[in-house]
Amino acid sequence: MPSDEKHIIDWILDKTDFKKQKQSFSNKKKASAFERRKHKMDNLIFYCSSCECCWSKVPKYIDVIKWRKYPKGLMPTIGKKRKECPECK
Ligand SMILES: [Zn+2]
Repeated sequence: MPSDEKHIIDWILDKTDFKKQKQSFSNKKKASAFERRKHKMDNLIFYCSSCECCWSKVPKYIDVIKWRKYPKGLMPTIGKKRKECPECK
């Protein structure tokens, strides 16, 4: 039956294409997720010039007050946005 043969070939082609697509999609997804996270982390850390500490907003599951202060000298302050921490506000 020629129609069945065609069907099988189509099925294999579909399957192969799907596998390839899925692979490239997951690779792309992984890379973009990493970029997003890196970008997000850089944007989330601020430097408070009042208490000279770095602080960042954190998800609620890390801290219920949704921000966290880092000890002095732990993080480089260069390139960090100057913003008063919620404590000094
Ligand atoms: Zn402060």
